[in-house]
Amino acid sequence: MENNEESDIVTFKDLGLDEYTLQAVEKKGFEIPSPIQVLAIPRLLTGDTNLIAEARTGTGKTAAFGLPIIQNIHEKCENVQALILEPTRELAMQTCTEFQSFTQGAYPRTTVLYGGASYSTQIKDLKRGCEIVVGTPGRVKDHIEKKTLDLSKIKYFILDEGDEMLDMGFIDDIRQILSYVPAKRQTMMFSATMAPEIQKLAKTILNNPETIQIAIAKPAEGVTQSAYMAHPHQKIGLITHILAQHPDFESVLIFTSTKKNISSIVSAIKRAIRGIQVEGISSDFEQNDREEVLLRFRAKQTKVLVATDVLSRGIDIKGINLVINFDVPRDAADYVHRVGRTARA
Ligand code: ADP
Repeated sequence: MENNEESDIVTFKDLGLDEYTLQAVEKKGFEIPSPIQVLAIPRLLTGDTNLIAEARTGTGKTAAFGLPIIQNIHEKCENVQALILEPTRELAMQTCTEFQSFTQGAYPRTTVLYGGASYSTQIKDLKRGCEIVVGTPGRVKDHIEKKTLDLSKIKYFILDEGDEMLDMGFIDDIRQILSYVPAKRQTMMFSATMAPEIQKLAKTILNNPETIQIAIAKPAEGVTQSAYMAHPHQKIGLITHILAQHPDFESVLIFTSTKKNISSIVSAIKRAIRGIQVEGISSDFEQNDREEVLLRFRAKQTKVLVATDVLSRGIDIKGINLVINFDVPRDAADYVHRVGRTARA
């Protein structure tokens, strides 16, 4: 483990999250923040930056805006404090569920509003009161016009998947919603692309925004990469098959995004391949234990090491034959860290 590299790892705590929010992060099994989270969380916590970010689905955006918003609104409020617009009902539901999974106590309350569902349930939810609304533009606009939703006091306005919104023809709905929200607010817009129309939209909704782009590095040259399509329940079998095909491999790294997976992968491999030396490692381990595990791996006493992304950022071990991504990394940068920085095969 290179100490200087390890100290470069930014933690959720470094980003300014409080104990309460950190507990939620821990409960989710998140170890290290994704690049968009590193950039967005501190900016939303301090509350004075507008942000336009080029980031795709699956880069951890929901936590990037969700964690700071939830931390900032932890009490019951008379008015809606945050609006998150999503292009589809599925994304709206998913974001709402993710918000609820970040919420520790009774507040903030998150309500989801989308078309094709009954108004009466949504109106009941709104009447009961909520601090955060996640919704699709058409239905949100309808509720405003019916006067069942009041956005005149919101502090946070998040427009997710900006390019999808434009493609789906939501621009007029968005403009109308904007006419009902306070000019003084914090706004973030995410989009997978930054085509000229997106920039035009951004100009109309963001005041003096900071623009960020999640830089994508390339894996090291000379690394042979391949992918297997597999259902979750097929993965362990596939991995043991690959391992059995290469008895000559001395060092194999398996990466997974969640700590929870580690012990099940380790024991499944042990069960499948008799006598194989396999160990797991994550940030849950004490520093001393981590060093010992790594020492055994470096010395080739341990053949297979199952690790989370924390390891991909701090580790520099020569002579690794194979890196297996048990799950798709959250973003391209993580993939490069896992594969390009450490693998030699
Ligand atoms: P996006 O909003 O960019 O589409 P999500 O927020 O849905 O992406 O994140 C994709 C998945 O990654 C979700 O299952 C989420 O719980 C998980 N995730 C987000 N941030 C982290 C993190 N820092 N560590 C591990 N998993 C994460």
